[in-house]
Amino acid sequence: ATPTAVMVGTGLGARRGVLFKNATALESSARIDTVVMDKTGTLTKGAPEVTQVVTDGADESEVLPLVAAVEKESEHPLAAAVVSYAAGLGLPARVASGFRNVPGHGAVADVDGRRVVVGNRKLMEAEGVELGGILARRDELASQGQTAVLVGIDGVAVAVIALADAARETSADAVRALHELGVRVVMLSGDNQSTAERIAGQLGIDTVIAEVLPGDKADKIRELQQQGRSVAMVGDGVNDAPALAQADLGIAIGAGTDVAIETADVVLMRSDPLDVPTALRVGRGTLRKMR
Ligand code: ADP
Ligand code: MG
Repeated sequence: ATPTAVMVGTGLGARRGVLFKNATALESSARIDTVVMDKTGTLTKGAPEVTQVVTDGADESEVLPLVAAVEKESEHPLAAAVVSYAAGLGLPARVASGFRNVPGHGAVADVDGRRVVVGNRKLMEAEGVELGGILARRDELASQGQTAVLVGIDGVAVAVIALADAARETSADAVRALHELGVRVVMLSGDNQSTAERIAGQLGIDTVIAEVLPGDKADKIRELQQQGRSVAMVGDGVNDAPALAQADLGIAIGAGTDVAIETADVVLMRSDPLDVPTALRVGRGTLRKMR
């Protein structure tokens, strides 16, 4: 790249809040043919809210304080949503002991002498929680695009907490703009397959890689690269950092975590998914001027 072309490209990007950290980032962005986007906090606002609590007959006001006690110890965005929902109902706070976080799955603790497990199906299975009829309700909520969290108390699944996380206003437009650039768009998520597929469908994304553990996101990028793709990864979370580093181009959402921003090659200061196609266009324009 000629220094002038790089300066022009970097300046063009900066005016739109797209920060290229170096000349290599600008050059890589010109070659991208696949964009992988994290779901929570990237395509969605990352501020989930409880929409519904379904129990198998158990009293919601007895179940929620137990769940909230566990989630108060967790740093997961879903946990914060559950805690504030319970507080909003004016339910009394309980204290958890023996808290254990299970990354990508949920959390476990003892509350009032009861073993409380909150998270996905795999966690219920790992903790020996009997699923029973509540599983059908979880599937139903997940197929609506909601994140459905299971609650196990003393070895039995007694409730499902449904949470919705609204898509960012421009996510669908961003996918469309990427398709117009001839770029394939993939959604990557730790969430349930049917939840992820539903949201991907609403946004026009054709490929979904879901139920990916936090440590496995980078492997998914590597697999795409091994198929000959030139991959950009867009993410916001701590668990996106290894994938951002693995990608040919790591793009961080400006509102994301420090680790993501530090690891990425490009930072989107406005946290707007539409700035992803902008970044690729700036890169292509710069490369054209260099020839
Ligand atoms: P994402 O990539 O969507 O942020 P994670 O990989 O962090 O998701 O978690 C994957 C799934 O594990 C969540 O969709 C949820 O079902 C479950 N989970 C993880 N942590 C928690 C928690 N603290 N409370 C409830 N469920 C959780
Ligand atoms: Mg995220």
